[in-house]
Amino acid sequence: MIYPIVKFGNPVLEKPSETVTLFDEELQKLVDDMFESMYAAHGVGLAAPQIGIGRRIAVIDVTFKEDPKAKLVLINPEIMHTEGKHTQSEGCLSIPDFRENVSRPKKVTVRAQDVHGKVFEKTGEELLARALLHETDHLNGKLYISHLSALKRDLIKRRIRKMIKAGEW
Ligand SMILES: [Zn+2]
Repeated sequence: MIYPIVKFGNPVLEKPSETVTLFDEELQKLVDDMFESMYAAHGVGLAAPQIGIGRRIAVIDVTFKEDPKAKLVLINPEIMHTEGKHTQSEGCLSIPDFRENVSRPKKVTVRAQDVHGKVFEKTGEELLARALLHETDHLNGKLYISHLSALKRDLIKRRIRKMIKAGEW
């Protein structure tokens, strides 16, 4: 099932998500649906709040279907270690048509559970590091625009508010 992507302005995007405690078939189905929804939206990462579900679940595939082994499921992820600094253009499916340069650590280690509840650690660099941080931020109710200067962030928010008013969002 393909879920519609929730856009900026919906409060679910700015609330910390709830820890997952039940690793059942329903969770597996939701993860499958999240991959399907992410690919349909042409994204390389998707967090559950982006489909209106406030639970700590995220999916990532920075190769966008090229390498099936690159498919990553993160349940209850925590950032364990970060290193270096890397600035790159970043966007978000929930804030379509906007992109900004964001500085983030270059190398990241995350600890998470898989769909069966097994704990694992994953280290990523550059694009994968960025995705790990971006999606974990989502589960903490944080959007990438919070990493921008207040000036840039307010400008984007103002433009979005205008679009919402005009019914274009
Ligand atoms: Zn996002």
